[in-house]
Amino acid sequence: MNVCPHCHSNHCLPLWRKLCLGPAGSTRCRVCGLKIAIVAGKAWPVMLAGLAAILSMVVLAGFSEFIAAADLRRWLALFAAVLLACIALYAVRVPLRVDELSNADLVARGRAEVAARKRAGAGG
Ligand SMILES: [Zn+2]
Repeated sequence: MNVCPHCHSNHCLPLWRKLCLGPAGSTRCRVCGLKIAIVAGKAWPVMLAGLAAILSMVVLAGFSEFIAAADLRRWLALFAAVLLACIALYAVRVPLRVDELSNADLVARGRAEVAARKRAGAGG
């Protein structure tokens, strides 16, 4: 699901960048340089499910003795598991979409510009 909708590259952005990309944000593909965003309709359910899970765990911890000292480690492990599950869902189930119009020529030009910038950066 990390495939660039412009150039179809699999490595168009790092996972942390995708996770930081909210439904209203956009960024540039690191292969072709064209603007991409996430599909908000697929991102909201994952974000809301994660938020609901975290909130319910916090409420559960606040209203019961669930988070007593002996259970703290178990509670933290459950919290981490829920967080990791949401991150994995977001990474795998939320696809990327185009955020500017492109065609084969623009993709080819963008790829060449990014490659030239990388060469210039590597050369100093
Ligand atoms: Zn791309």
